[in-house]
Amino acid sequence: MVDRLVVIGGDAGGMAAAMQVRRRKPYLEIVALERGRWTSYAACGIPYVVAGEVEPLDQLVARSPDEFRDKHRIDVRTRHDVTGIDLAARTVEVRDLSRDRTFTIGFDTLHIATGARPLRPPLPGIDCDMVHGVQTLDDASDLLDHARTGEAARVAVVGGGYIGLEMAEAFCRRGAEVTVLEAGEQLMSTLDADMAGLVATAMRRRGIEVRTGSPVVGFEPGRVLLGDGALDTDLVILGLGVVPNSELADDAGIETGVKGAIVVNRRQQTSADGVYAAGDCAESFHLITQRSVHIALGTVANKQGRVAGINMGGGYATFPGVIGTAITRVCETEIARTGLTEVEAARDGFDVVTASIDGHTRAGYFPGTKPITIKVVAERGTRRLLGAQIVGEEGAAKRIDVLATALHAGFTVDEVIDLDLGYAPPFSGVWDAVHIAARRAADLLG
Ligand SMILES: Cc1cc2nc3c(=O)[nH]c(=O)nc-3n(C[C@H](O)[C@H](O)[C@H](O)COP(=O)(O)OP(=O)(O)OC[C@H]3O[C@@H](n4cnc5c(N)ncnc54)[C@H](O)[C@@H]3O)c2cc1C
Repeated sequence: MVDRLVVIGGDAGGMAAAMQVRRRKPYLEIVALERGRWTSYAACGIPYVVAGEVEPLDQLVARSPDEFRDKHRIDVRTRHDVTGIDLAARTVEVRDLSRDRTFTIGFDTLHIATGARPLRPPLPGIDCDMVHGVQTLDDASDLLDHARTGEAARVAVVGGGYIGLEMAEAFCRRGAEVTVLEAGEQLMSTLDADMAGLVATAMRRRGIEVRTGSPVVGFEPGRVLLGDGALDTDLVILGLGVVPNSELADDAGIETGVKGAIVVNRRQQTSADGVYAAGDCAESFHLITQRSVHIALGTVANKQGRVAGINMGGGYATFPGVIGTAITRVCETEIARTGLTEVEAARDGFDVVTASIDGHTRAGYFPGTKPITIKVVAERGTRRLLGAQIVGEEGAAKRIDVLATALHAGFTVDEVIDLDLGYAPPFSGVWDAVHIAARRAADLLG
């Protein structure tokens, strides 16, 4: 047995863990194996780089491989692809992509943080050059070239999830003609239909064509094939969600669960002794439904990585779970959600009351006030807040954090009404929109 931590994956879930271990174990050998050329990069920033709002691209790198090596003595090896895990021998098999050779490396503790990859359904023509997933900084660089040169005058975004919509905004800002093709009846399946409808309206107002109920059946060079015709396009972006990169773990006999994500306990331990996992490759526990879920977000990856690292470093930490908080922006429209939507709550058997309000982000009379719509979902018997969604303009979406905090605390809508939130006319009305939504729900609950 060697006294070495091996980390597979050099981004949020991997390097957050490695840094925690380094703090607690200054002399432990830590080897981080990363398939790509980058470490600790913010994929979240890719749409804004493509849009030209953030530049240059390397701004998205929080810590480079050299910084990890020189400042933190973490032996980061980029362009190293892990191809197998042998739990009995406690080794991983690695392909050094630069030198074209394969070797094995032993571990005492192993941390799997292999992330997730964009879903590519097996549609005819999906591998043609014009079809792009969005995940790595290499993808970003490639898309940036298309955006800058104006080569992509017509862009089709397949899938109406948040990554698809952020990329639609990016190309819209670059002056492209953008069409979003969504197979379902609404954009953003993570929102209720009424709230998602507000997003579609705002996007159409900005000149983005939104086609719902429009399944893609294949691709040909220069064309997306639809059930009822075809759309001419220069570039296709896939925004169909992600699948966890958990095959390595699965092949090694490590337990996997929801959507194939790696099963972990609250200390981020997998089913194998001395093997941890964190981030998009792993499951999370949903605090409201009390079930395992797969939620691929940077917020979760960083927290899980931190907890895994504390535990691998000899400390004790737990990650209690998630409530499905997410936030995004499409053009001038801000979108946020937390907890359960009305549809999700019904699916889980909750008896709910919902309340929607239209309000303002500042005092109604104050210059620059913007519209905000909040929908809250509350449990009928207990009056407990179960979830909330927000669609609005500048200043709207971050209000979700108040509601997320209330959810973590298990507040009723009455307790939300009593929250002592800050008020001055440039920031809100004397009753914030969050208060007003909670009041509406309380009235409906009687
Ligand atoms: C366009 C876009 C926008 C996003 N916006 C947001 C946002 O606004 N908010 C938010 O919370 N989240 C956002 N996310 C999600 C967020 O980026 C991810 O949840 C986060 O990066 C997950 O971190 P991770 O370390 O688990 O996985 P990843 O970031 O995927 O990192 C995994 C790493 O492992 C490497 N790897 C995989 N397999 C192997 C192997 N076999 N051997 C060696 N290396 C391997 C990969 O190359 C990769 O670098 C966004 C994602 C994208 C793509």
